[in-house]
Amino acid sequence: IYILGIESSCDDTAAAVIHNGKILSNVIANQKIHEAYGGVVPELASRAHQQNIVPVVDQALKKANIAKEQLHAIAFTRGPGLMGSLLVGTSFAKSLAMGLNIPLIDVNHMQAHILAHFIDEEGFNKPPFPFLAMTISGGHTQIVKVSNYFDMEVIGETIDDAVGEAYDKSGKILGLGYPAGPQIDKRAQLGNPKAFKFTKPKVAGLNFSFSGLKTAILYFIQKETANNPNFVEENINDICASIQYTIIGILMDKLKLASKQTGIKHIAIGGGVSANSGIRQALKTGESKFGWTTYVPKFEFTTDNAAMIAIVGYLKFLENDFTEQDVTASARLKI
Ligand code: ATP
Ligand code: FE
Repeated sequence: IYILGIESSCDDTAAAVIHNGKILSNVIANQKIHEAYGGVVPELASRAHQQNIVPVVDQALKKANIAKEQLHAIAFTRGPGLMGSLLVGTSFAKSLAMGLNIPLIDVNHMQAHILAHFIDEEGFNKPPFPFLAMTISGGHTQIVKVSNYFDMEVIGETIDDAVGEAYDKSGKILGLGYPAGPQIDKRAQLGNPKAFKFTKPKVAGLNFSFSGLKTAILYFIQKETANNPNFVEENINDICASIQYTIIGILMDKLKLASKQTGIKHIAIGGGVSANSGIRQALKTGESKFGWTTYVPKFEFTTDNAAMIAIVGYLKFLENDFTEQDVTASARLKI
């Protein structure tokens, strides 16, 4: 079974071809234009998707070494995401499926981040049901109880900023470029995580909050630079290490609580922030300390990509779960 996956929810135009469980191609056109603005500009994203989508899909088919007539179905991201961006992928997928007279499969982007764990990839184990999935990205922070492929329940999520946003906004305060997550991570590994203390937010249950942290960091930097204008550059590694220590602490507190409450010890992560060295280390500690088994997908399947859309397409294909031509994009689609 050959399925084409199309992803256009945010600022990456992506297409992938999957043959049964294996990814044959995974193409991404990243929109560099947003870097200059320090964040994604929806209007520009939509326009770039329109320019990218045809060449990206062509390239995905070419790399997979198949003709479009060999495809069995087209899977696309229906939501959540930016409306203008989603519309480009949705309309493209609909017309391609209609032209080829093959089924159309709609995919929830947040389910796809989780189901990326089911791509056949050497050296990567698939989590057994039930497992806990923590999706940590630029737009989301969720803990999901996954009982089966399409039986998922969000048991915790952020009430304000996403964790990736916390990284990016902290980075902006420190004068680091966008996205700042990888840069903070790199410097954090050279610094002392206990050099500066930022208080963790008090949010009951399994929900997260990150907006207070950003404010705390802003005030702290303002106060310190008033005394010493070179404070940031002299202490950048320690500042980054302390921010990272606080963020990872917040994530781990909730993950531990979720595992305790549900009794589930299989823990999977996904989303761009799962590249972070601190969270990876913390998960390893969870394995030895709490008897967890942890799952981190291959890097290219953690950030926004179409391979994860294609695997969901394949799983839905097996269940004959298709959608109609009158399907519409949904910016706030829920799990
Ligand atoms: P969403 O997937 O929710 O729509 P998105 O597309 O912005 O949002 P991703 O592409 O999954 O999210 O991830 C990007 C985010 O990951 C950015 O906020 C970036 O700073 C962060 N990030 C990437 N690498 C690291 C790292 N090593 N440490 C911390 N954060 C990181
Ligand atoms: Fe995403």
